[in-house]
Amino acid sequence: MNRRNFVHYSALAIGGVSLINHPLFAQLAADDPYKMKMVRDSVGVFTEKGGTIAYLRTKEGWVVVDSEFPEQAQHLIEGLKKTSDIPIHLLMNTHHHGDHTGGNIAFKGLVEHVVAHENSLKNQKAVAEKSKTEDKQLYPDTTFSNGWKKKVGGESIRTYYFGPGHTNGDSLIHFENANVVHTGDLVFNRRYPFVDRSAGASVKSWITVLDKTLTTFDNKTIFVFGHAFDPEKITGTKEDIKAFKDYLEKLLVFVGQEIKAGKSKEEVMKATSVPGVSEWQGDGIARSLQAAYEELTA
Ligand SMILES: [Zn+2]
Ligand SMILES: [Zn+2]
Repeated sequence: MNRRNFVHYSALAIGGVSLINHPLFAQLAADDPYKMKMVRDSVGVFTEKGGTIAYLRTKEGWVVVDSEFPEQAQHLIEGLKKTSDIPIHLLMNTHHHGDHTGGNIAFKGLVEHVVAHENSLKNQKAVAEKSKTEDKQLYPDTTFSNGWKKKVGGESIRTYYFGPGHTNGDSLIHFENANVVHTGDLVFNRRYPFVDRSAGASVKSWITVLDKTLTTFDNKTIFVFGHAFDPEKITGTKEDIKAFKDYLEKLLVFVGQEIKAGKSKEEVMKATSVPGVSEWQGDGIARSLQAAYEELTA
């Protein structure tokens, strides 16, 4: 979205409910998928292409979690500057995947630090070396193993690492005062997940990670999800995390039963649904089935 359209879009949004049904509004929304919306207090979310970005406004400057791709990150930076011309203080990554770190490079020279789990850095480097895209990366310079905490302009930011899940380097990032957590791709809301075994993912451990997530945060916590089937449902509550955990549990049970019944990997991957699961949809159920099969037969 260019600057002019951003202004139009904001004006229409501020203009009120009556404009929502205006054909121009629908047209702009379709042309420009870039969206910024406040979640709670000074925390907002940005969506265009890739994993959901969260941003926090503080007295010291903006804190950004994840960066989509370079073009999208540029749109975000312009959007933030339009809202408030405070510096961009800190960039954080939930994990290494390109739809979450590809835009890091757009923050080069703007942020002092990039924070991520140590495995996120390792994975990002490994992927970049393999694909010869090292020059297109901005790597985390501040890493942690179990967790990390910092006060930034009145907000307290804390990260949690509960072990392998979607990769072996996913952390949860909590803006404690606002009580908003970015789960990264540890939650695919009502959408079949990507399970990156090449980066140390584990479905079994993922279930444990979600259990710890449920006991760590409270019922008022708002969670920001990396991906959702319904673009409006990129934020949610513990109920959504319980539902995703239930999906992973049923996936493991089903694939385990199929293996016991002597089914081959190819046969297991032909399934078009997981028994007992009705809410998960989209492309890519085969990725779940394959990952579960490989994990259970490893
Ligand atoms: Zn993602
Ligand atoms: Zn991912």
